[in-house]
Parts: sequence; C-alpha cells; structure tokens
Amino acid sequence: MSGLLDGFTFPGIPARVVFGAGTLGQVADEVRRLGRARALVLSTRNQAEDAEALAKSLGGLAAATFSDAEMHTPVDVTERAVAAYGEAGADCVVSLGGGSTIGLGKAIATRRGADQIAIPTTYAGSEMTDILGETAEGHKTTRRDASIRPETVVYDVDLTLGLPAQMTVTSSLNAIAHGIEALYAPDANPVTSLMAVDGIRAFRDGLPAVAQTPGDRIARARVLYGAWLCSVSLGYTTMSLHHKLAHVLGGSFGTPHAETHAILLPHTVGFNAAGTDRLAEVAEIFGGTVGGGLWDFAKDLGAPLRLSALGLTESDLDRAAGIAVQNSYANPRPLEEDDIRALLQAAWEGARPD
Ligand code: NAD
Repeated sequence: MSGLLDGFTFPGIPARVVFGAGTLGQVADEVRRLGRARALVLSTRNQAEDAEALAKSLGGLAAATFSDAEMHTPVDVTERAVAAYGEAGADCVVSLGGGSTIGLGKAIATRRGADQIAIPTTYAGSEMTDILGETAEGHKTTRRDASIRPETVVYDVDLTLGLPAQMTVTSSLNAIAHGIEALYAPDANPVTSLMAVDGIRAFRDGLPAVAQTPGDRIARARVLYGAWLCSVSLGYTTMSLHHKLAHVLGGSFGTPHAETHAILLPHTVGFNAAGTDRLAEVAEIFGGTVGGGLWDFAKDLGAPLRLSALGLTESDLDRAAGIAVQNSYANPRPLEEDDIRALLQAAWEGARPD
C-alpha cells in the first residue's frame, strides 16, 4: 500500500455489463435501452448460423446480418460491412463472436458513430477495451479512443459451452496475459489490479475443470467471469513486453493470435518478474516462479508450448527481436535485443522458464 503515496488515477468503467447464463435473451431489451431500433448483427462465417438465429429472435429490431468478420479487422471487409450497415438502415451493431467480430463492430462504430452491443464468445477480451487494430495491405495499425469501446457487453455462459477445447485454453492464456501485464502497467490503479488478480484466479480455478469437461457450466461461468475482469484490465491500462512481442509475431509473421499469446506468456512475464514486485500474487496463484508456474499450468492443460510449431524459423526470431526493440515503451525491465532474442529462443524450443 506504500504505492498509494505515489497516487493513481481511476478512469471509471463506463460500459454496461450483463452477465449470466441465457442472457442472449436480454439482447432485445438492451437494444431498446440504447434507444435503438435496427441492429446489424455481425459474426464470422463460422458463427453465421448463430447470428441468423439471434437476428430472428430480435424480430423487427434486427435490420440485417453481416457474417464476413475476419481476424485482424481487414479494412476491405469493414468497407463492405459499413455499406451493409447503410443499406439496411441500421442504427447500431450487435457483435456476436470473438475478437474478430467485436473488432469489426468497433470499426463500423468509429466510421458511423454506431452504438455497439458486444456478445463475446471467446475469452480474448476485446469487448471492454477502447482498442481497435485494423489491417490494410498487410500492415496492422492499432489505436485507442474512448469512442471505440462498446456501450453494452452481454456475457452469456451458454455461448461458450461449444468453444473448442484448444481455443478455450489458448484464449484463456491470452486473457491471463492481459491481467498480468495490467499489474505492472505504468497506469495500473488499485481497481484494475484487484480485478486482474481476481480474473487470473478465476482462470486458475475454472480452467482445469473446463478442459476436462467443456460443458461444465459452473466452471465455464467462472472462466467467463475471469475473461470479463481481464478484459477490463486490458481496456484501462497500458500493455508492455508481452503484448508488444505478440503483436510483432502476429503482425510481421502472421502467427495465430491466441496461440502466440499462449506460448509467449510464461517467457515474457517470467522475464519481467525479475524487474517488479507486483507479480507476487501471480507466483502464489500458479505456484513456484511466475514463468515456471505458468508454464506448468499451460502444459497440464495441453496448451501449445513451442513457437517452432507455428512455422517460425530461427532467423525469424532474429528479425522479431530487432523489430521488438525498435520503439521504446514502458516495461518493468530494460529491453536489450539479446535478452529478447534469448527469450524467443526458449519459447521457440518450448523450454520451461526458471
Ligand atoms: P476469433 O474472434 O478470430 O475467433 C476464432 C474462431 O473461433 C472464429 O472462426 C470464430 O467464429 C470461432 N468462435 C468464436 N467463438 C466460438 C464459440 N464459442 N464456439 C465456436 N466457435 C467460436 O478469435 P479471438 O481470439 O477471439 O480474437 C482474435 C482477434 O481479436 C485478433 O484479431 C486480435 O487482434 C483481436 N483482439 C482485439 C482486442 C482489442 O482490445 N482490440 C483484444 C483481444 C483480441
């Protein structure tokens, strides 16, 4: 608590959150609550049937569906979605899916001022954030602005029961990464830290049961609750080395989002643990050292452990380490290119961090 003398800023958490099982049935009320009457319902192609079913249940409140959302929010897809929004005479978006679909909702909102209702079906955590990453001509740019954040988030445990086992684990580790980096963020405050620790603990408690029995609703609820808390942590603080490295690998080498986070996490935060005293609770939650404890937790869940399995070569690691130190940013430990290269090598080989 001595850190209180240094002061902090708590920015408030404006989004409305509806959490529970069967809450999808409350989306119509939430559209009306925003004073809207014609929703464009968004999804990826994989979840098109769910989006159609939701639109049907919304009746006249659904103007149309658009089911072409893709990873990393390509601008050409957004342009088609914005056209669909205009043609349908929509006045808000309902984004049903993971970070890709929620990203598309944010991209439409920034262009058309649309209110957003996000209904997350993974644990990636875009729904509570003011962050939008968009891709054009192979280049991803990310920006933050309060107007990007969805007005309402509906968490329905039942929508997560069918999330495939591997994605459940990698998406959860992606969420835990938000919580951990929020703890040592330069703009951390006591509320985001409380939420981050409780969120990380919820994953530790719920995830092993979910991995064993994906349809366990009580364990799924605990994990989704953790996802909400970690999403808040991401949305109200500034991320460091872990998220920067994941961004470099995803952006410059096309590695898949959740797997990249899952593999890097024990290595990046294990490295940073030596530079901060703010990860003591994380070490306690997972047992042992921060890096070792997390690596054991991930391994027991059957998570991917090797960057080499994502198609990266050792020369890619040289280039990635160089890109990662091009711009400076806040991090608990100074970042030397050699250290980053060694960290990437360990993650590439799947070695257990000390
Ligand atoms: P995703 O949204 O791309 O989903 C992956 C696949 O799983 C899709 O085909 C999707 O339809 C399917 N899926 C999702 N939920 C399912 C369910 N319950 N059952 C069955 N299938 C389901 O993956 P993601 O990891 O959630 O999101 C990754 C994207 O989100 C990346 O582009 C990343 O940059 C972005 N992201 C952004 C933020 C932010 O704050 N802006 C935060 C986290 C992630």
